[in-house]
Amino acid sequence: MANKGCAVIVITHDIEAALKISDKIAVFYAGTVLEVANVEDFKNDGKNLRHPYTRALWNALPQNKFQAIRGHQPMQDEVVDGCIFYDRCSKKNELCSRGIPQFQKVNEGVVRCNNVS
Ligand code: SF4
Repeated sequence: MANKGCAVIVITHDIEAALKISDKIAVFYAGTVLEVANVEDFKNDGKNLRHPYTRALWNALPQNKFQAIRGHQPMQDEVVDGCIFYDRCSKKNELCSRGIPQFQKVNEGVVRCNNVS
């Protein structure tokens, strides 16, 4: 279908499978899109990934660092002020708790983070 010009959306937890068939990957966390990355951004140890959660997700895979981060996603009924990843983020600063970060375009992708490097 994609080869015939149709847009195809695949929703999965299997990032490896998604990387084999996709052009772009939208990364969700607690029901929120945090980053839309190009498949190429996941190459070279994911160093071109923009959001701390996307990097953590990538580093958690067994074939990468197999490294978990502390904490868990907010519960469905939990109200979060500011960035939804704030409690688990190692890059947070005082700005991050003041409002939901807006999308910004970075290197031909988009990211919802106040502290993109
Ligand atoms: S906005 Fe702040 S808390 Fe949220 S991911 Fe970016 S640096 Fe971390």
